[in-house]
Amino acid sequence: MERTKNPCLRRRCIKCCLNTQMPLSDSDVARIKGLGVSENLFVVERKGLQKLRNSMGRCVFHNGQACTIYGDRPEGCRIYPVLFDRDTKEVILDRDCSHKEEFRVAPGISHEIIRLVRRLDAERNSRLKSKGS
Ligand code: SF4
Repeated sequence: MERTKNPCLRRRCIKCCLNTQMPLSDSDVARIKGLGVSENLFVVERKGLQKLRNSMGRCVFHNGQACTIYGDRPEGCRIYPVLFDRDTKEVILDRDCSHKEEFRVAPGISHEIIRLVRRLDAERNSRLKSKGS
């Protein structure tokens, strides 16, 4: 088997790209639009939160073999399976990840995800405010 540091690629696992609920930051949307993809093709917005669109049960950018925007994938996809648990306020590995035991939560990642969650919340609040909701 090909050796790569990334367990997702090594295991050829696409579980987290199936019926994804991955949030998108404003900079994710701008970067992906810069690839020439129209926003309404990949963004769904609910209650101010932008998320990746799914098509045929998987992320619109997954072609059944691989992520077609891997180098430009959203920040949340880069950090996953590390998550911020809003109830316990802890940085954890997602229980649903099939290979979570092969990842570790590095200290730098904890700070990165906390900053990302704060930014996503601020962007969501700003979107809701501008819509007067
Ligand atoms: S952008 Fe790529 S890595 Fe992220 S959910 Fe979609 S296919 Fe998977």
